[in-house]
Amino acid sequence: MHALYNLLYLKNVQNIPEILKIQKAFYKSQKTKNLNYRLSILKSLKKEILDKEQAILDALYNDFKKSNFETFISEFGLVISELNLAIKNLKKWAKPKRVKSSLLTFPSKDYIYKDPYGNVLIIAPWNYPFLLALEPLIMAIAAGNTVVLKPSELTQSTSKIITQIIKNVFLEDLAISIEGGVETSTELLAQKWDYIFFTGSTKVGKIVAEAAAKNLTPVTLELGGKSPCIIDETVNLNLVAKRLAWGKYFNGGQTCIAPDYVIVKSDIKEKLIDNLKKEIIKMYGNTPEKSNDLPRIINKNNTLRLKKLIENQDVIFGGHIVEDENYISPTLINAPSLDSTLMSEEIFGPILPILDYKTYEDIESIIYGLDKPLSLYIFSNNKSFADFILNSFNFGGGVVNDVLVHFGNHKLPFGGIGGSGMGQYHGKHGFDTFSHHKSVMKRGNWIDPSFRYPPYRGKLNLLKKIFKFLG
Ligand code: NAD
Repeated sequence: MHALYNLLYLKNVQNIPEILKIQKAFYKSQKTKNLNYRLSILKSLKKEILDKEQAILDALYNDFKKSNFETFISEFGLVISELNLAIKNLKKWAKPKRVKSSLLTFPSKDYIYKDPYGNVLIIAPWNYPFLLALEPLIMAIAAGNTVVLKPSELTQSTSKIITQIIKNVFLEDLAISIEGGVETSTELLAQKWDYIFFTGSTKVGKIVAEAAAKNLTPVTLELGGKSPCIIDETVNLNLVAKRLAWGKYFNGGQTCIAPDYVIVKSDIKEKLIDNLKKEIIKMYGNTPEKSNDLPRIINKNNTLRLKKLIENQDVIFGGHIVEDENYISPTLINAPSLDSTLMSEEIFGPILPILDYKTYEDIESIIYGLDKPLSLYIFSNNKSFADFILNSFNFGGGVVNDVLVHFGNHKLPFGGIGGSGMGQYHGKHGFDTFSHHKSVMKRGNWIDPSFRYPPYRGKLNLLKKIFKFLG
């Protein structure tokens, strides 16, 4: 049986339309509507991932020297938490929710059903290659959809293990991982899906949105951008520098919500720079190249892209590049010009530009000059300044007095706005994203006032009174 399955798997994996046809037929069979079936799949997935823990950690190290610690805290552990959450809450989340009825439609019982969309396509990036492929998969399956997942072609070891896990847990009619690059993605996007969940760059996000629009397919776009970090003069600079350096250089600076650049109150700029240098040395040593904790840049193209970004800039720390090893040391740049490429494109590497401000207007002119960011960070002990900043700008999500950590609470919806994306997920928000909220009204038959039926003569005044009463 398994040999036959493997044969089918290999045969069909070549043929994207055929896979979708099989998944459409499976979805129509109603099997995914069964909550016990979904639960059993999620439990098998959890077991398979736990069994492969070391192999997963090794795959990420192999792909870009990501340390086991960073993989565990930012990928493996979060995937297991998401699975635990879905397994524990699935029945509660999926239950039709009764809402209050309206006087206008009395008598009725009104509900919101959580309906799966159907056949879902998930396209994942390379920077958190395990988390960002598995987390949407878990919630799409929990919500009762079928899934075709395309992991990133740039993290081959991780993508292989993802494909293996999915093959061991799912039959291809429910979920399959199809590895490949732009060509595969393009062919996948040419099909008619019921939902597309994309994580990646803003540039490719626009291609995905265009393909989805052709079939009016709903999309979630989890994109990137330039996330600012504002620091005022009321802070404890030791703590700020420690938290900022950690968040900037985590994953080698290749984090969608990494602080992209700093805007610091001009009076404390020099002190901040001194503290950042000290913290970087404490974390990665005097020769960060030898540190086991600093991941490499994902590939040569990105190493060269980053190298170009710092050419002709005022490098005040780091800037050491070993092209053959895709290595760039933690780097600080002083006051880049706002029209430089460094300040107009997402950096996505271990390079931190430091700008300064004197007035709020200085901050405003920098942030409004760019797309709406995925994250915004403020370090300040002045509550009213922090609140003012929080309310002044549009951004996906943010933190006061730290960076990145909002990602860790599944109760907070995660997603961008404008150029940094649309839609959100994490925890129940993810389950809801992959569920159509279907309104259902169950009408009572025991009374049927003639009021709504023609002839309407003499009824308008009463109608007006009813609407006034409804508020
Ligand atoms: P990318 O956009 O280059 O690639 C993402 C996926 O799209 C990959 O699977 C790739 O194969 C596919 N793809 C690439 N070109 C394509 C094309 N022309 N047509 C169709 N598909 C195509 O992104 P990346 O380099 O893998 O990831 C980095 C980007 O992702 C950064 O901008 C980062 O900010 C963003 N990101 C966002 C989040 C988030 O949650 N918002 C998380 C991680 C990364």
